[in-house]
Amino acid sequence: MHMKIQSSLRQKITFGYYGYYAMAALIIGLSLFTFMELRLIEGKIHSGTRITEFFDVTLEIRRFEKNYFLYRQLADYWENVGYIEKAQSLLDKHGNDFESLTSHKNITNLRSNLVNYRLLLEQYSQHALLSPPQLEQLEARIRNIGRAITIEGEHIANSERLMLQKSLDRARTFFFGYLALIALVMIAIGMTLSKMVVRPLRHMETCINGLTGGRLEKLKIDSNEHEIISITHAFNHMIEELEKRQQCITRSEKLASMGTLLSGVAHELNNPISNISSSCQILQEELGHADIVFQKEMLEQIDNQTDRARIIVRSLLDFARDREFKHSDIALDKLVAETIRFSKGMIPPNVTLTSDIPENLMITADCQRLQQALLNLLQNCLDALGGKGKIHIMAEKRFITANDKNDITFHGRCEAHIEVVDLEIRDNGTGIADDVLPRIFDPFFTTKDVGQGSGLGLSIVHDIIEQHHGCIAVSSASGGGATFTIRLPVQISTLQPN
Ligand code: ADP
Repeated sequence: MHMKIQSSLRQKITFGYYGYYAMAALIIGLSLFTFMELRLIEGKIHSGTRITEFFDVTLEIRRFEKNYFLYRQLADYWENVGYIEKAQSLLDKHGNDFESLTSHKNITNLRSNLVNYRLLLEQYSQHALLSPPQLEQLEARIRNIGRAITIEGEHIANSERLMLQKSLDRARTFFFGYLALIALVMIAIGMTLSKMVVRPLRHMETCINGLTGGRLEKLKIDSNEHEIISITHAFNHMIEELEKRQQCITRSEKLASMGTLLSGVAHELNNPISNISSSCQILQEELGHADIVFQKEMLEQIDNQTDRARIIVRSLLDFARDREFKHSDIALDKLVAETIRFSKGMIPPNVTLTSDIPENLMITADCQRLQQALLNLLQNCLDALGGKGKIHIMAEKRFITANDKNDITFHGRCEAHIEVVDLEIRDNGTGIADDVLPRIFDPFFTTKDVGQGSGLGLSIVHDIIEQHHGCIAVSSASGGGATFTIRLPVQISTLQPN
């Protein structure tokens, strides 16, 4: 059986900590190394000072040698001897430093050269006793040994400079190499942690943020972590519950609109029923007296009024029924007229509701759902009017091109290059504040008091319009009033509902 080795989130976070401990150890290592290197270089600089001093002393020896040969002054002789002694003392004290830069043999030579040099110089100091050719010969020997001493001094000084340079180069390479290693370890730990922990958490965060925008999307499990899997399950369970609750609230919203519809329907049914009743009364009174044509007319009227009552009842039943999206060709003026007729019960006496829909403006739509959307919008207009004002519904057919620029922002799925109907519902109520405007289609967003609004009305309208491949926009005049524009494609027969 294939077994996945799963480690817990806690283990991974612990792993992250270990990673950072390792990093801290690396950084401490780097600091220690840098400190040691600095100490080493410091030591080398010290010994370098002595070596430079030695080289300078050899140069002084040569300078006084030259002066002594030129002017034969005793002071120059003693200066020279003093420098020879200084060079010897430097060699004696720091022999090891010198030997590390050249060979032991060279240092022994240097020592014997210094001793010889001094002896020859002493001989030269007796110049009064020497013949000119002897003096010349002695001068040449002293110069040769002096040159050899200076050359060796210079060689040692150069080696020392070279070694210092090498130490610096090595320290620099090591330092940058170490830094690169730390960076690599950091990137590796960061990427591993991000892959294992942060990315799935960030994915969850995005989905949870989406929730506040009304998107009830389930999370995909794309992690092996126990904790993330169980959080994802819990989250998806919550989404399912939310979906169920939202459906319940949507249903109760619908029931609420049905309640308002009922008073309109009762009013509507009243007419055919009273017509039927009066026709029946006349028939009863005239039974046996009236001629057969009149009686037939009365019966036809009863039949027609019964049909009318049946249509009204069917519309109400249609509205109440939960069923799949079903589109058919609808005359928009008739649909709006029927909605207005049904909603008469909810219109207060000081509110005028007018409409201006061109005749025979046909669209393909789900009659019941569109009616529900209109009712929700009407209800909001009435709430905004507070018992007094005007509502006007109008529509026009348009052809949308890709270059069309809208003054208002449409939400939904509008496409270009299609024939559409713009259905406008306008009121002169309170209007919508600028900070409220961007949020009004969010589910559960309401500015109404608790119990007055569920915040689902416009969200349902938005969904219904999207199901029709349409879109909706809202604008609010600064002096008050709001206008909702529903844009619906004239034909959606080739398109599938959502
Ligand atoms: P509800 O009506 O339950 O508050 P809706 O989703 O229908 O929920 O509306 C959301 C909010 O949009 C309302 O609370 C209101 O503030 C604002 N609104 C909607 N229609 C209008 C309108 N015609 N005039 C003023 N404000 C409106």
